[in-house]
Amino acid sequence: RVGRHYLHGEIHRQWGEAAISRLQELGRRAAAMGSSAYLVGGCVRDLLLQRNMTDIDVVIEGDALRLAADLAATVSASHLHSHPRFGTATLRFADQFRMDLASSRVEHYPQPGALPIVQAGGIQADLWRRDFTINAMAIALNPASFGQLLDPYRGLSDLQEGRLRVLHTLSFIEDPTRILRALRFSARFRFEMEAHTLGLMKNALAIDIFRHLSGPRLWREIRYLLQLSDLLPALRLLQEWRLWPLLRPPPADPAALFATVQRALTLRDWFQLSFPREPLLQDALFLRILWHDIPWAERQERLNYFQVGGADEIQNDLQRLPEIAAQLARGIRPSQRRALLSQLRVEGILALLAGHPQGPIQAAGLAYLQTDRHLASPLGAKEIMALGFAPGPAVGQWLKRLRDARLDGEISDEESARQWLLNNLKQPPCKP
Ligand code: ATP
Repeated sequence: RVGRHYLHGEIHRQWGEAAISRLQELGRRAAAMGSSAYLVGGCVRDLLLQRNMTDIDVVIEGDALRLAADLAATVSASHLHSHPRFGTATLRFADQFRMDLASSRVEHYPQPGALPIVQAGGIQADLWRRDFTINAMAIALNPASFGQLLDPYRGLSDLQEGRLRVLHTLSFIEDPTRILRALRFSARFRFEMEAHTLGLMKNALAIDIFRHLSGPRLWREIRYLLQLSDLLPALRLLQEWRLWPLLRPPPADPAALFATVQRALTLRDWFQLSFPREPLLQDALFLRILWHDIPWAERQERLNYFQVGGADEIQNDLQRLPEIAAQLARGIRPSQRRALLSQLRVEGILALLAGHPQGPIQAAGLAYLQTDRHLASPLGAKEIMALGFAPGPAVGQWLKRLRDARLDGEISDEESARQWLLNNLKQPPCKP
């Protein structure tokens, strides 16, 4: 079923008419330049798995920058972004379709974990430098062979058998991030590591191979893990493969941690459905959950090592959470609840909810997310001034007090707000 026509038909069926005509145009132009163009990597794998289209990666046996510029100049509504230092280019189209182009290359690793030295090479060598056989297939795009699968390392049969296999014995030593990539693919596709590959991974772990890796490179892969739509299988593998130290000390009670993660996944789904326009950073949410029980200094050390963006917010939330939880547990007025919870990012609030699935803390967090934070004063600044208040910062303070009064049920509409305002006029606008 993997003949040339099958994949031509699959690209058409799965990616649509516009995609296929752009890829055909790319193939024609490559051939006209005496080059060859191929789809490679994750997009070939996902096409064969019939999964949603991911980024389209194209490898050119020839000058990728020149070909990309040629294509951008002739195909309408495309936008070219070149990175001459890396010899790569990205083409974007008005309908969000995007292609990344690179020249085929060979890589040499001067030492474990270091960035590779790169040289030009053919498509076969380019596939050889890849992480797993399932990611080391290509589809030809030149007109004479459009749609033909190139599978020099038997990736297709591994894909069909649900097997992860490295291409050569030094793979994990050269690049330890591949261990985390293996974990991600195993978790996402429910694939098994083939026995020899498993042995190679154990050998690499036995010599503590991750010590050669820089924090940001490690974080990049961990971040991908934390962004998986179902994180639990990945965390179970982290436990099974004894990889917790990459992220945190092994948890004393993994089952309890997994249960919290499961609740956080449900909360994430609920939040995204309820507030589709509000951004939610899944990796930031799960860092808060996975690091809630480790000391501040250790967290800071890991944040610095990984060079995580938003580190201060994470620390701020995790520092405040215990005290906020204690206050909410005591039962407080909605306005106080709002004042407390507005100190946290949304990710911090969801972490709090995941950690307290019942009782007053859960109720308070949900009420804040659903109602409190959206509630405003029933009167606007203009209406307050129309009652005789001079413009100035005091008006802003009255707006806040009116909002709090509404939260606490003291007022409900404009009329009761006016009355409340006149009754409270004797007091200063700021509560002492
Ligand atoms: P995803 O769907 O998660 O993005 P992907 O396979 O497309 O999966 P990318 O990180 O975008 O993952 O990488 C694209 C391709 O580059 C991979 O399919 C693989 O062939 C190759 N690749 C990426 N990282 C490595 C690595 N560390 N070592 C070897 N090859 C890699």
